Amino acid sequence: MLISFTPQEIQGAGMTSSRTRGRMVERLREQGIHNERVLDLMRRVPRHLFIEEALAHRAYEDTSLPIGFGQTISQPWVVARMTEAIVEHGLDGGVCLEIGTGCGYQTAVLADLCSQVISMERIEALQAKSRERLQRLGLRNCRLQLADGMLGWPKDAPYRAILAAAAPRQIPQALLEQLAIPGGLVIPVGDGETQELRLVLRSEQGFKEKSLGVVKFVPMLGGIQSRSVF
Ligand code: SAH
Repeated sequence: MLISFTPQEIQGAGMTSSRTRGRMVERLREQGIHNERVLDLMRRVPRHLFIEEALAHRAYEDTSLPIGFGQTISQPWVVARMTEAIVEHGLDGGVCLEIGTGCGYQTAVLADLCSQVISMERIEALQAKSRERLQRLGLRNCRLQLADGMLGWPKDAPYRAILAAAAPRQIPQALLEQLAIPGGLVIPVGDGETQELRLVLRSEQGFKEKSLGVVKFVPMLGGIQSRSVF
């Protein structure tokens, strides 16, 4: 039986207190995030509970941090930017597919905005930790799948929103096919040090693409890594 996080743990203290979180939100505002719903979510979701305790005091800095297995928790600005793209294009409220659960932070943000989040991860150990955190937070509308996100998750398609937290070289065709009409995909694309964050909107008229700026993500890799590998 898992023990829920206490209200005190969720609230944080010192470097994870509401004051520190408020400062992060002000920084996000200065960096161009304007949607109040998104800013409120960034204030509420306890990022410090998604990283190892030794790093928790840095949770509200605008930086990505290591989460083990060579992966990182996305930088708050990036999470806010992707989430804002979803809200501003009316892609919230429905079923969302996320690729790259990582530590589960973006999953928790999406869980507040969508009726259900199906989140895919290829590293079993990361998924196991995320599952525990999301359960301890009482988020019941998240389903985690250990599978290659390049292929999407056809079983529950179509999705109003698809969000990828790892960068493929090119947009996988499967993800486009699994978008609802209307629907939208937010995804970093490219194989360089930095990538382009793209928004693809699907409507009756077809697909329309828009650039949301330059970002830095880990690559989207094929296949899965089960626990027995370690
Ligand atoms: N939003 C996450 C970001 C994690 S980093 C967070 O805030 O923690 C990206 C994650 O994508 C990594 O955990 C990596 O293992 C995963 N990933 C990479 N390629 C993948 C694929 N093809 N399918 C599923 N997950 C993938």
